Amino acid sequence: MSLFAAVEMAPRDPILGLNEQFNADTNPAKVNLGVGVYYDENGKLPLLACVKAAETQLVEAARARGYVPIDGIAAYDKAVQNLVFGEGSEVLTAGRVATVQALGGTGGLKVGADFLKKLNPTAKVLVSNPSWENHRALFINAGFEVDSYPYYDAAKKGVDFDGMLACLNAAPAGTVVVLHACCHNPTGYDISPAQWEQVIAAVKARNLVAFLDMAYQGFGDGIAEDGAVVGQFVKAGLSFFVATSFSKSFSLYGERVGALNVVCDTKDETAKVLSQLKIVIRTNYSNPPTHGAQVVATVLSTPALRAQWEEELAGMRNRIKAMRAKLVERLQAQGVKGDLSFITTQRGMFSYSGLSKPQMERLRSEFGVYGVDSGRICVAALNDKNLDYVASSIAKVM
Ligand code: PLP
Repeated sequence: MSLFAAVEMAPRDPILGLNEQFNADTNPAKVNLGVGVYYDENGKLPLLACVKAAETQLVEAARARGYVPIDGIAAYDKAVQNLVFGEGSEVLTAGRVATVQALGGTGGLKVGADFLKKLNPTAKVLVSNPSWENHRALFINAGFEVDSYPYYDAAKKGVDFDGMLACLNAAPAGTVVVLHACCHNPTGYDISPAQWEQVIAAVKARNLVAFLDMAYQGFGDGIAEDGAVVGQFVKAGLSFFVATSFSKSFSLYGERVGALNVVCDTKDETAKVLSQLKIVIRTNYSNPPTHGAQVVATVLSTPALRAQWEEELAGMRNRIKAMRAKLVERLQAQGVKGDLSFITTQRGMFSYSGLSKPQMERLRSEFGVYGVDSGRICVAALNDKNLDYVASSIAKVM
C-alpha cells in the first residue's frame, strides 16, 4: 500500500478558491473584492516609491548575503520597536520588549503561539467572532483549544461590546485573548479607546494574556492613532504580545516582513523570553530572510524616505476612505434606502456589507462581483472605474 494512501484532500482555502473562480470568470465587467490586499486607483498592487528608493540604495551598496541573526536584523527590530512603542518610550529605555523579526504578521503570531504553548500548555485561546480565518487555524495548529468571544453584532451593525466584555470577564486565568489592534478583519468595526480601557481592565482582573495583532497600522486613522492601543496596554503595566506586519503598510506582501514584540516586566525577564523565542525560530526555520527587513529598516531610519512612506501610506488610507464615502453616495443614488453610515464608520481595507450568502452568490453569478460569502468586501479594491458597476450590482441584489 502507498505511504500516502490514507491522506485525505484538505479543504481549499476559501479566499484562494474565490480567486481561482474569479480568474476563470469570462464576464468582462468582473471585479474582485474578495482579496485582502490594497489596490491603487488603477486596480494595481502598488510598489511604493519609498520602497523602490530603498531598494536602489541597497542594490548600489550590494553586500554578500550571510545568515541573519536568529532574532533578525538588529536595525530592523529597533525600527519596529520605535514604530510600535514610540521612540524613547519607557518600555524601550528599560529594555522590557523582546522583539524578533518574523515572516509577516502570520509568522509573528506563530512564533508567539509556539512560545505560549510551552509556557502554558493547558491555556485556552479566544479569538473574535468572526476573525481573520487564520487565527483559529494557527492557534489550533500550535496545539491550543480555540474558542471565540462575541464581536460582530449584525443587528446593530457594530460591535457587541457587552458580549465581548462579559466573555472576557468569565474567561479562566491564563486564557490567551487575540485582539485586533485596529482595522478589524473581516468586519471593519473597531472599539473605542474608552472600550479598550474596559478590555484592559478585564485582562488585568482575570489575569488573561493579551495578544494584539496589528496587521493594518496606518490604514485606519493614522500610524499613531492606530497604534495607540499598544500605549494603553503599556500604561496599564501589563505583559503582552504584539504581532506586527508590514505586508499592507509597505505593500510588501511577498517579502514576508513582520515581527513579534513581547512586553515583559523586567529587563532580566526580557532576555529570558527572547532566548526562548530564538529557540522557537531556530527549530522552525533557523533565521529570517534579509531583503524585506532591510528595505523597511532603511525606509524607517532615513528621514526623507520615512516622510515619503508616511505620505504614501496616508495616500492609501485616504483613498480607502474616499471609496467608502463614494460607495455610500452611489448606493444612495441607486435608490438604496436606510442608514449606510456603517460603511464610513468602518476602518481599514474591509467592509462587512451586511449582505447575506445568497446575495453574495448572486453578485458573483449574475454580475461577476466577487466578495466573501460572509458579506466581506475589500474596499481597497474599489476605484473610480469599477465603483458605479459595483454599486449598481449591490443595489440590484438588495
Ligand atoms: N492578521 C490579520 C488580521 C490579517 O488580516 C493578516 C493578513 O491578511 C495577517 C495577520 C497576516 O499578515 P501577513 O501577510 O503579514 O502575514
